Amino acid sequence: MADLFVCLTFDHDNTSSAISRNMLTPTALSRGDFGIAAAARILALLKAERIPTTWFIPGHTIDSYPGCVAAVHADGHEIGNHGWTHRVPSTLGPEGEEQELVRGNESITRLTGKPPKGYRSPAWDLSPHCIELLLKHGFVYDSSMMGHDYLPYQARNGDTVSLLEPMQFGPDTPLVEMPISWSLDDFPHFEYMRSDAGILPGNMNARLVIENFINEFRYMKKHYDWGILTYTFHPHVIGRGHRMFMLEHMIATLRAEGAQFVTMETAVAEYQRKHPAGLSLRPR
Ligand SMILES: [Zn+2]
Repeated sequence: MADLFVCLTFDHDNTSSAISRNMLTPTALSRGDFGIAAAARILALLKAERIPTTWFIPGHTIDSYPGCVAAVHADGHEIGNHGWTHRVPSTLGPEGEEQELVRGNESITRLTGKPPKGYRSPAWDLSPHCIELLLKHGFVYDSSMMGHDYLPYQARNGDTVSLLEPMQFGPDTPLVEMPISWSLDDFPHFEYMRSDAGILPGNMNARLVIENFINEFRYMKKHYDWGILTYTFHPHVIGRGHRMFMLEHMIATLRAEGAQFVTMETAVAEYQRKHPAGLSLRPR
C-alpha cells in the first residue's frame, strides 16, 4: 500500500502580520484578533478528527496571545518557528535574521519546554543567509521553498547566481526542505488585502479552491507510491464558517482516499527513513 502523507499546517500570525506591514489601525488589528476564535474552531475540528498538525507561530503571537497558543500546545500539535515579528528575512540582514530566529525560539521554548525542529519564513522569502543560520541554530527542517510538490529534499546552500552566467549550484546540506506552494495556501485565494503593494482580491469560492486542493492529492496518489503533500492555512483566514466547511470536507475526502495525516516532524522522520541518503535537486 502506498504511503501518502498529508501535513496540515497553520501559520498562526494573528496581528503580527499586519503589524510587520505597518498596518496598525484598530480594524487592521482586529483581523488578526479573529485568529483567536478561528483557532478554537480549528482545534476542535482537529481534536474530533484526531489529526496531529504543525503550527508555525511567530513569537509575537506567542507572547501576545498566551491562552490561544497554550491550547495549540495542549492539544499536542507541533509548534515551529515563524520568526518573532513576522518580518520577511530577506529584508533584515544576517544579524536581524538571527535575532528573529533566536527570539522566536525563546518564545517557543517558554511555551513548550523545548526548541522547535522546524522553521517557516514569514511570507516565504528566505535570504541567502537563512540555510546556514538554521543549521547553526539546530533546525532539522525548513518549510519555505517550492522546488518540488510531493517530495522533500535537502536544502542547497550558496548557489552562485548572476544574470549573464549559468547557475553554479551550491552543495546540499543536512537541512531537510519540506516544500510548499502559494497555490496550496489559503491566504492568496481568500484574503482580501488593500495595501501599499496593491490589492489582493481574495474571496474566492471555497468549493472551487477545495477542488484544486484535493486534486493535488489525487495527482500524487495516481503517480507516486510515496509522498508528502503540505497544505498551508492561516486560522484567521480558514476559520470563517464557509471555509471551515471546506476544511471539514477536505479532511473527510483525503482520509477516504487514503491520506495519512502527520505533523511535519513525523513527515521528516518518514522521509529520512525512506531516503536515508537524502533527495537532491542539484541538476546532474
Ligand atoms: Zn505568516
